[in-house]
Amino acid sequence: MLLDGKALAAQIEQELKNRVQAVIQKMGGKIPVLATILVGDDPSSATYVKMKGNACKRVGLESLPVLLPASTTTEELLGKIKELNENPLVRGILLQHPVPKQINERKCFDAISIEKDVDGVSSLGFGLMSMGERAYGSATPKGIMNILEHYKIPLEGKYAVVVGRSAILGKPMAAMLLNKNCTVTICHSKTQNLPHITKQADIVVGAVGIPEFIKTEWLKNGAVAIDAGYHNGGIGDIQKEGLSSVCSAYTPVPGGVGPMTIATLIRQTVESAEKFS
Ligand code: NAP
Repeated sequence: MLLDGKALAAQIEQELKNRVQAVIQKMGGKIPVLATILVGDDPSSATYVKMKGNACKRVGLESLPVLLPASTTTEELLGKIKELNENPLVRGILLQHPVPKQINERKCFDAISIEKDVDGVSSLGFGLMSMGERAYGSATPKGIMNILEHYKIPLEGKYAVVVGRSAILGKPMAAMLLNKNCTVTICHSKTQNLPHITKQADIVVGAVGIPEFIKTEWLKNGAVAIDAGYHNGGIGDIQKEGLSSVCSAYTPVPGGVGPMTIATLIRQTVESAEKFS
């Protein structure tokens, strides 16, 4: 089964349009805003931010692009986040990862007020989510959970292996799967005998950042393969060749996790706007 994230994202956007109109009415015609902060001029990050802004417009939200130079300091970025936290029309704040090296990214993520952390990047949001409390989920893993739920992939009691342990992808992914009663293993660059581990898994999530790093032969027959990676030329973190014959279900690249990351960010922004209005 092809886990079509693009089609699901389009469906979610369609549903959000009415909700956004209702919020605008409640706000007396004012349009809720998602602020998107881009620091520096990395072309991929600029493309992602633009795609997120376009998605806002498609559902009727306003996007406020905040473009800061690559030389921005932590203090300057914190100042901008504070300003956006205090702006009542701004219902969500996205700080595009990664920021230039001189900036303390974690400190800046954690400065985003919890009510506006619609990309789910703050330590507080991660902690609450991990404890099963209400919080916006980190958009990529939450988007993956939405795909799994939509396509009714059984999770309870299943063995899930997450390859990658970044703060905004691998770790929250593992916590979300654990919350759904999967038995979870997290693998990383120091993991030994990785192919042996992935071969046992009912569900494998590739979040490594290396093109086609996870080989089809590392997967067991009937496994569910979720590919969070995206590289130039539409290549993911999981080998494409043979995937459809080995797996019972898999996300394509492109058209799988990427569109659902954006749809999840937008949905969480709409939820925030509804709470505020
Ligand atoms: P990251 O911060 O670079 O983390 C990569 C993780 O992979 C690290 O935990 C690293 O382990 C692990 N790793 C690296 N080499 C490995 C190896 N040889 N064996 C096992 N594990 C290894 O990347 P990220 O931000 O999580 O992103 C991962 C992928 O998802 C990338 O392809 C990225 O483009 C994609 N992504 C997509 C979206 C989307 O919207 N679709 C959003 C975010 C990211 P260590 O911790 O030991 O270094």
